Amino acid sequence: MNLHQHTLVLAAILATGLGVSACVTSEPRPFDAQRALADVEKQLAFGPRVPGTEAHRRCAQWLASELRATTQHVVAQEFRLVPPGDSVSPAPTDTLTHWNIIAAFNRESTDRIMICAHWDSRRWADQDPDSARHRDPVPGANDGGSGVAVCLELARIMGESPPPFGVDLVLFDGEDQGRPSHPEEFLMGSKWYVRQAPGYRPLAVILLDMIGDRDLGLPREAYSDTLAPALTDLVWQSAARLALPAFTDSIGGAVVDDHLPFLFSGIAAVDIIDFSYPHWHTIEDTTDKVSAESLDQIGRLIRELIYYTPVEDFRAASRVVPPQG
Ligand SMILES: [Zn+2]
Repeated sequence: MNLHQHTLVLAAILATGLGVSACVTSEPRPFDAQRALADVEKQLAFGPRVPGTEAHRRCAQWLASELRATTQHVVAQEFRLVPPGDSVSPAPTDTLTHWNIIAAFNRESTDRIMICAHWDSRRWADQDPDSARHRDPVPGANDGGSGVAVCLELARIMGESPPPFGVDLVLFDGEDQGRPSHPEEFLMGSKWYVRQAPGYRPLAVILLDMIGDRDLGLPREAYSDTLAPALTDLVWQSAARLALPAFTDSIGGAVVDDHLPFLFSGIAAVDIIDFSYPHWHTIEDTTDKVSAESLDQIGRLIRELIYYTPVEDFRAASRVVPPQG
């Protein structure tokens, strides 16, 4: 076999043997879960990322600078609002600055998916068993920190190996600041995002929230499964192919989360969330409750979806069932 024939054979192997991928030119490196875990710790080192605080402002700057190291297309989308108060701890009456932080990869592609998480930490630990702590903020290792950490590490991979279709990575602010009986006070960043970009129609939105829990268990979130069943199938089938132990083929609760503004706009969206987290909205939501193994399962899954899932599969899964009532 001469060199020319050898090249042809190699080309044939690349075209067929690796043909399951949607034209990946170079193999993306593996997901680094230890780096992701370090990024959970880094976020907590700023302090709770509560809108209006110095920790929040400094963390926003850090997130934007980490993303700018991976792509030149980073935008901090600013919005202002007065957060809700409650009977325990009235919120400041000042208008507070919030930022959705957006990083685009393969910006030329018209086929796009969104990977997202919220980065704010809740102002009140109002689920803490000790009612004296209810006016303290939540550290937010799993609730906020875990999804952001996976997104940052995915951004680094995409910075090194451009994805075969467009990926918009979005870190939402103002997700978790509402009073418990007022669902309309949550999801401020994702609602703002959808309002600002009515023409934005990604094929899929994949939300990562509370995915770092050491004891990770991921049933299908009920709004995702009901309103975007094909996308939810695509995600859970990919997890099954990778034999990721956290994913179970059962239906979990319906969670008010950042996927809803997209679903209600007719965009397929799925929430990957472990809502059975004993430290949810308590002061115990700290880094020791999060494991690299759990972050790794989510990182591997999204890497698989980005690099080894044909865009046609996302297109076929983009149908949304209109909400009833
Ligand atoms: Zn929360």
